[in-house]
Amino acid sequence: MKRIVFATSNQGKMDEIRMILADLDAELLSLKEAGIHADIVEDGETFEENALIKARAICKMTGEMVLADDSGLEVDYLGGAPGVYSARYLGEDTPYSVKNKYIIEQLKDAVGKERSARFVCAIAAVFPDGREIVTRGTVEGLIGYEEKGIHGFGYDPIVYVPEFGMTTGEMEPEKKNDISHRGKALRQMRELIKECLE
Ligand code: IMP
Repeated sequence: MKRIVFATSNQGKMDEIRMILADLDAELLSLKEAGIHADIVEDGETFEENALIKARAICKMTGEMVLADDSGLEVDYLGGAPGVYSARYLGEDTPYSVKNKYIIEQLKDAVGKERSARFVCAIAAVFPDGREIVTRGTVEGLIGYEEKGIHGFGYDPIVYVPEFGMTTGEMEPEKKNDISHRGKALRQMRELIKECLE
């Protein structure tokens, strides 16, 4: 059976990825399961660049097919911030309750569509023979006026999705997986790499 290394050490992400890629004829391994310790500098300017930087580095180390992701929140009123800096925004260790309140405060004069924002996820696949594939998924929303919801993580409580009348923080995990940026990018990737694995 073919092996695919997914460049993450995050168990939650790995569970989600396994669920979505379950029907691929391949064994999926996290970095830990593949016995890899890597500290990769993600200094790309786009989600796609960062996902590729990670996937290329791990592919070089392992000689196996590698998938990597990069994701974050883009707020249009803030010129696309926090964007690729989403995890580091206002400091890596700053609680999300602080980051979320700060963003709401920054948007105090923004109304209606001015509050548009989106979660973005890029997934990169890098093959040992040098082939590369990148996919992107998004969830379009509006920054809420207050934090809502107990599910998810990070910026979920402030991203209101008009289509569903709730924030992603109010969605049950299965529902969020169905509509999430990561789910969309992963499902696209699944279809593209199916052909490559045959
Ligand atoms: P990474 O792709 O694991 O580096 O995640 C980047 C950062 O983007 C996370 O630490 C969160 O701040 C934010 N982010 C990405 N996806 C989500 C999501 O689904 N909900 C909330 N925050 C997210």
